[in-house]
Amino acid sequence: MLRFSGKGVYGAIAIGKISVFKKQETHIRRSHIADTAAELERVRAAKEKAFVQLSEIYEKALREVGETNAQIFEIHMMMLEDDDYNDSIRHIIESQSVNAEYAIALTSKNFTAMFASMEDSYMQARAADVKDISDRLIACMEQGGISEAPSDDNVIICADDLTPSETVLLDKEKILAFVTAHGSSNSHTAILARNMNIPAVIGVGKEFIQSIRDGDMAAVDGFTGEVFINPNSKTLAAIEEKQRADLEKKELLKKLKGKENITLDGTRVNIYANIGGVDNIGAVILNDAGGIGLFRSEFLYLERKDFPTEQEQFEVYRKVLVSMSGKKVIIRTLDIGADKKVDYFGLDDEENPALGFRAIRICLTRPEIFKTQLRALFRASVFGNLGIMFPMITSVSELERILEICDEVKTELDEKNIEYSENIEIGIMIETPAAAIISDRLAPMVDFFSVGTNDLTQYTLACDRQNPKLEPFCDTHHEAVMKLIELSAKNAHAHGAWIGICGELAADLSLTERFLRMGIDELSVSPSYVLRTRDAVRNIDLRK
Ligand code: PEP
Ligand code: MG
Repeated sequence: MLRFSGKGVYGAIAIGKISVFKKQETHIRRSHIADTAAELERVRAAKEKAFVQLSEIYEKALREVGETNAQIFEIHMMMLEDDDYNDSIRHIIESQSVNAEYAIALTSKNFTAMFASMEDSYMQARAADVKDISDRLIACMEQGGISEAPSDDNVIICADDLTPSETVLLDKEKILAFVTAHGSSNSHTAILARNMNIPAVIGVGKEFIQSIRDGDMAAVDGFTGEVFINPNSKTLAAIEEKQRADLEKKELLKKLKGKENITLDGTRVNIYANIGGVDNIGAVILNDAGGIGLFRSEFLYLERKDFPTEQEQFEVYRKVLVSMSGKKVIIRTLDIGADKKVDYFGLDDEENPALGFRAIRICLTRPEIFKTQLRALFRASVFGNLGIMFPMITSVSELERILEICDEVKTELDEKNIEYSENIEIGIMIETPAAAIISDRLAPMVDFFSVGTNDLTQYTLACDRQNPKLEPFCDTHHEAVMKLIELSAKNAHAHGAWIGICGELAADLSLTERFLRMGIDELSVSPSYVLRTRDAVRNIDLRK
């Protein structure tokens, strides 16, 4: 097995046989020509042919990759008409009394070197365009055209380099992917590959072409830019699995993006996504989540050496809210402690950290930390549709104290004339059996519940979620857990609150129907599970 690494320009995976793309070798000789006028006439005729070809390529590109991307071939036509380019060809023919092919090749070399030496990476990438039009012009003189792409089906095209026009002439129904030894991710070749949805890796290095033969097996990973030649069985199995998952995801996207989360009998449910930081927002949007059901804000505290300032937090919360353009964003306040340790908090070691000083217990004991976060959240609330929820609740008095602190923060903001939204939804996580059992008392105090099944399961079944030895004892479908969720749902609705689930069980498709029958209003899952959950919901019939 050989492994090469380059730049993946379109995220997809292909596995198949290699077809090495051989360009027509044109050995340009310099010959003395007495009749330079006749030579200039040959250039003119070749240009005419090249124009016809480029217009055909433009039409194909227009159909396949749209106007913006097709414009590159209009630019190629303009380049063919460029005065500097044409003057250079004419000058070389006339001043040196040489053949047109030589004059074009020399002009191409000079212009290509000029573009390649420019600072700007966009301009550097234009070198490939000059070479493309010059090769076409020479081909039009010699044999009336430029080589077409290989005609074998289901192959991975491997080439030293591909020009934009060679790329657009590839029959995307026939080829699986392409890999080039050279090229930049800014090149039109890369841009076209991206828009033609062809898995492609470029710039894998000059040794590549010498290391492969027609018919070799290759696995191309357009996500990572890796190319495996004759992959061993382990690598092949891993990449096949990645391909299967990718295809499933794309199929789901095609089928379900933009569709409603509605059962066959017309019951609607919100499907939101869980995130740990702003980096995940792209995946939330791509997977068409209706909102963010859990933003684990403690990640802001974990990745650093000191407390994040109010302003730093505000900027992160604002970014999430703005990126979600008015869709619901539920941010959970700090849930540090237990498995999430941070030195600068100066927390003592504990015998039973999961049952220890964590989450809301820290916030209520050290209100200055809590208030800083609340101020950042309230200030950010004007930028979107914010919900705030509190973790690890066990009692009414805790919630009363939290609401008092929220009021204190609002009063402070009022005094300073700092704006915040009047419509922030306030919720609590149902993560302890205590909270579920007294959910009738808690529900009237909040807008929503969000069930954290990871902790609810650990506390109900007395199974440390960090201990792998306990897995056989930790039945995530345990009736006790189900009953606590059902009780919480009943009490939430009785008091006009809504209820969601944001622990891992929300994505367990074998429970989706049961949760809907309990009246769960929202399921918040990892972004990559949003569409699978939508698919499951759309196949449920609660009338049966
Ligand atoms: C949970 O406990 O289910 C939950 C969502 O919170 P975390 O996993 O962050 O503890
Ligand atoms: Mg939890």
